[in-house]
Amino acid sequence: MATETSLAFQHLHQLLQELEDAQYMLGHGPKRIAAAEKKLTLAEQASADQRDKIQQMKKKADEASLNLKTREADIQKHQGRLNEAGSNKEYEIITDQINGLKESCAQLEDEILVMLSDVDDAGGQLETLQQEVADQQGRVKDIQADVSAKEPGLKENIARLEGEVAEAEKIMPAGEGKSAYQRLKASQGASGMSKVEEGYCAECNTAVTPQDAIRLNMGEFCLCRACGRVLYRVDA
Ligand SMILES: [Zn+2]
Repeated sequence: MATETSLAFQHLHQLLQELEDAQYMLGHGPKRIAAAEKKLTLAEQASADQRDKIQQMKKKADEASLNLKTREADIQKHQGRLNEAGSNKEYEIITDQINGLKESCAQLEDEILVMLSDVDDAGGQLETLQQEVADQQGRVKDIQADVSAKEPGLKENIARLEGEVAEAEKIMPAGEGKSAYQRLKASQGASGMSKVEEGYCAECNTAVTPQDAIRLNMGEFCLCRACGRVLYRVDA
């Protein structure tokens, strides 16, 4: 009789653990989806930021090109004035101005080349980021499909385990024992029960009193005096 009770408690404890695992798995699915969606949002944001950055870079390069054209037009104007120079001195001044403008144009051309090359590089980085978005979209879809595929089986499993737990809980003695068990189950789940191994509570590692050892041997309902869990004996 005592052994039968011990086995029934052990069975109940195992069922509670299985039920908890199945419930965890069911709850874990949406968390996996949420985590993947978060990564997708971050990838999309990085991609959008890069697009904005490229737009700014292009705008700067366009402004520089416009600036270059203005200076080139200035050179043309100055060259026209050279023919109208009234003196050598004036001619020299205009030539100096033209040379100065040519120098600044050459510098600006170099700067524009660097800017355009930077835009190209940034475009390459954008492609990588866009690929990351596409990859992450695929991952979200895969995980959603995986979670949806597993969900019916998990729910079925949970329903079956809940039925088996309800059946196995009939071992709990009516009254105080049952209500103590229900309280522990509500607050700690499967962890509200603990087996006794070689005279010790397996959860808190406290030795059971000789009196409780006798009660357990007789298959009586017994709580650990240290951690308060429902104890059951495991027969070697
Ligand atoms: Zn204990």
